[in-house]
Amino acid sequence: MSQRILLKGGRIVGGPHEPADLLIEGGRIAAIGTAIDAADARVVDAAGMLIAPGFVDTHRHIWQTSIRGVAADWSLVEYIRFIRLGYATAYRPEDVWISTYAGALEALDAGITTICDFCHIMRTPEHADAGVEGLDRAGIRGQFYYGFYDVPAEPRSFADHDARVAHARHFFDGRFRSRPAGALVTMGIALTEFNLIPVAHTADEIAVARDFDLPLTMHMGTLSTPDSVGRLHEAGLLGPRMLHVHCNASSDDELKMIADSGGALSITPETELQMGMGIPVTNRALAVGLRPTLGIDIVSDYSGDMFAQMRMALQTARAIDNQKTLDAGRMPSTIDLKVRDVYDFATIDGARAIGLDSQIGSLATGKQADIILVRQEGIHHAPRTPDPIASLVLQVRPSDIDTVLVAGEMRKSGGRLVGVDIEAVRQRAQASADHLAAGFAEAMNKTGQTTTRASYGSELARATGGDVK
Ligand SMILES: [Zn+2]
Repeated sequence: MSQRILLKGGRIVGGPHEPADLLIEGGRIAAIGTAIDAADARVVDAAGMLIAPGFVDTHRHIWQTSIRGVAADWSLVEYIRFIRLGYATAYRPEDVWISTYAGALEALDAGITTICDFCHIMRTPEHADAGVEGLDRAGIRGQFYYGFYDVPAEPRSFADHDARVAHARHFFDGRFRSRPAGALVTMGIALTEFNLIPVAHTADEIAVARDFDLPLTMHMGTLSTPDSVGRLHEAGLLGPRMLHVHCNASSDDELKMIADSGGALSITPETELQMGMGIPVTNRALAVGLRPTLGIDIVSDYSGDMFAQMRMALQTARAIDNQKTLDAGRMPSTIDLKVRDVYDFATIDGARAIGLDSQIGSLATGKQADIILVRQEGIHHAPRTPDPIASLVLQVRPSDIDTVLVAGEMRKSGGRLVGVDIEAVRQRAQASADHLAAGFAEAMNKTGQTTTRASYGSELARATGGDVK
């Protein structure tokens, strides 16, 4: 049982203007108020700080931490060729472990207390084990989405589709079935992309989730399968507890289908804008009653910074709205999308999308103590922004995060991760990066072109007008 902690004299986001206290007991928020008397509690002086719920990252391939930044200038086509069919083939279980551990620490350091890890690097059963162990070790709250995607690397560990489905069931039994209710890390299912396998196989993957009452996630509505939501609906497979990712090419009707089915939406503005996936669907989703949530997606491309994602989602959506008015020959007189909207995308809407809104995503008595304390001392806070949510969305940087708690356990304190040997982690991540760089070069020389044609060729050719070498 975690200790009693009193966060004293901070500005509670969503609470009163005056400084207030927040008491944590048994991993939960026990009280919020002024002058809380808790003489035996560990006191954290929060004077001058914002006290806010931790962020919820609803889509990240955390296994790509070891190849940080390699995709800086890549399109989606290049990403698929060079990472999904290149680097991925060189991953060992230890690469998955250090990527997951270091990536989860990076998330915690940046104020992300819950992460949805879309783990589609399962070359072997040991790769799957390594992913879960990395999340467990970091102490982050997480949903480990078991990815069925068949990494095209030899030798194959799974003989066929049936063997893979059998392993997923075995994996749940061995790793998750006995975890207590409220365990920090739980399991979900990440479907193979709709264009890569027969619909019957998609149904098998979904059945694993439904049989064990697990949440589902999948990449949807991308250029190679723009109508995947509709096709899933036609197949009778669309349903609740499905977290649909991207959906840039989905129609308004399809976005409505997601809302009507009880599904949820994760957008990842930075990858979508860079890689040619299309405009983030924020405006269109809101118009049909579907609240977007935010995902980092990949640090193989850019930073693990939720503040950056909030700003990119906000200003892209505003630009789209503004342009409609400008195109009509008028100046926009007001702005509809507010900072509060994207703040909710990154907190309570994210929590709701993964079924945890009664537990996390906002600060209230009885909820899990997944909390960040944010300093406002740097020159970029002189003077302080009056509205704390405007400050969190538009001014705060990850380096301002002083304290991070997950279920009342201190993961960052005084600006430093607790119980982490940063240099040792960095060295192990670098060794992994070096191995993967060598493996990537080998894969490109030997098999990259072959596997591209075998696994993705026809779909990519259709999506790109044949421009796949
Ligand atoms: Zn993704």
